[in-house]
Amino acid sequence: MIPIYQSKNFQENFLNIKKENQVDEKVYQVAKEVIADIRVNGDVALEKYVAKFDRSVPKNWEVTTEERESAWNQVDPNTIDALKRAGANIKAFHKKQLQSSKFMQVDSDIVSGQLFRAIERVGIYVPGGTACYPSSVLMNAIPAVLAGVDEVIMVTPARDGEEIAPILSVAADIAGVDRIFKIGGIQAIAALTYGTESVPTVDKIVGPGNAYVAAAKSLVFGDVGIDMIAGPSEVAIIADDTANPVYVAADLIAQSEHDKNARSFLFSTSKSLIEATNKEVEKQCAVLPRQEIAGASLQEKSALVYVSDIEEAFRLANKLAPEHLEIQLDNPLDYLGKIKNAGSVFLGHYTPESLGDYYAGPNHVLPTSGTARFSSGLSVDDFIKKTTFLYYSENALQQASDDVMTIAKEEFLDGHARAVEKRLKKN
Ligand code: NAD
Repeated sequence: MIPIYQSKNFQENFLNIKKENQVDEKVYQVAKEVIADIRVNGDVALEKYVAKFDRSVPKNWEVTTEERESAWNQVDPNTIDALKRAGANIKAFHKKQLQSSKFMQVDSDIVSGQLFRAIERVGIYVPGGTACYPSSVLMNAIPAVLAGVDEVIMVTPARDGEEIAPILSVAADIAGVDRIFKIGGIQAIAALTYGTESVPTVDKIVGPGNAYVAAAKSLVFGDVGIDMIAGPSEVAIIADDTANPVYVAADLIAQSEHDKNARSFLFSTSKSLIEATNKEVEKQCAVLPRQEIAGASLQEKSALVYVSDIEEAFRLANKLAPEHLEIQLDNPLDYLGKIKNAGSVFLGHYTPESLGDYYAGPNHVLPTSGTARFSSGLSVDDFIKKTTFLYYSENALQQASDDVMTIAKEEFLDGHARAVEKRLKKN
């Protein structure tokens, strides 16, 4: 059973809690030691930590062309076709995000604008500890490839210390990944950041992972770019009497089966929907393979919230800023204007989050723990740098000179003022 809250109690219990995604200090300590060692000792240290944390060391770090080719024979052809279709949808959606460099002002005296350039080399972390996520490969690599990144390097721990899951290799081929290394955890993040004899350095690392990966990413930030530090996954559903409790319950469970700390919320004006949803949750959980994980998340981290009207539901959802927001109302498109903070929105009774997680096109790497208040999901933009440029003619500088020198002097930076003054025409 999911606990039921009134709007006020929900706010007190869920909206004032910060830093859901804080990582344990001990994990940071391990991460610091491993990163420092690999930074200095390269492959020797990398091998030591792969043996320690990934259990055994593969004969070759990099997945060979032969291994990549043979992976295609080890995956069910139906799965390959589904991945190809998902890849095509994700590619089509992200292609629309591409932008060209911009000239903002152009006349004979002044030219200014922005150059859009792809990051040169990107590392993609694909989790491979307890499960296998081909969708993560597609979601992280496709925007990078579309952005024009020169080299996309994927890392993922090998299973049993030798092979990576063949489905990950197939997904990497579909997405256009250039090289794959069989390393995971902190050691993979350190190797990509500082390089070793075998692993090249990258300019940015993206992709989800466990607490060790998250701690390592936050420690190397600055020496490389990172996408975000993801907290537990979450969904908020806004629904009224028009919603089907079977669908609502299924979507809450789908979120909660990720992780015991995942959070699933329903905001509803309908008491009968709330009661029926709770009954359905019990029924559906009873036959769910991951019922222990989902059950813990639903009972301890989730809430069914009764609200007086739909306006109140949107107010709470906007404050929560959930990673995923489902609107299970009739005419859902009418409500788009009410959404201020959410990672990704799923509209109507037939758009479960699972469509977005795997297939439809929008990215599934999304801001969690309320960070949708100020950040966005992964997109082509994450792999692009925008460099501004400026040209002034002699005449244009002459006209701007007084203003520039005045401001420079106010800041006591006479050298700045003189850099203009030296160029002025002598009358
Ligand atoms: P993982 O690849 O993130 O971590 C496995 C690695 O952790 C191992 O290779 C090992 O090197 C390291 N490790 C394990 N125990 C360690 C220890 N005691 N000390 C040091 N290092 C250690 O795979 P995982 O563990 O299965 O975690 C995957 C995570 O990714 C989950 O939390 C999952 O929820 C998350 N995920 C998120 C998304 C998303 O889009 N937000 C998608 C998929 C997965």
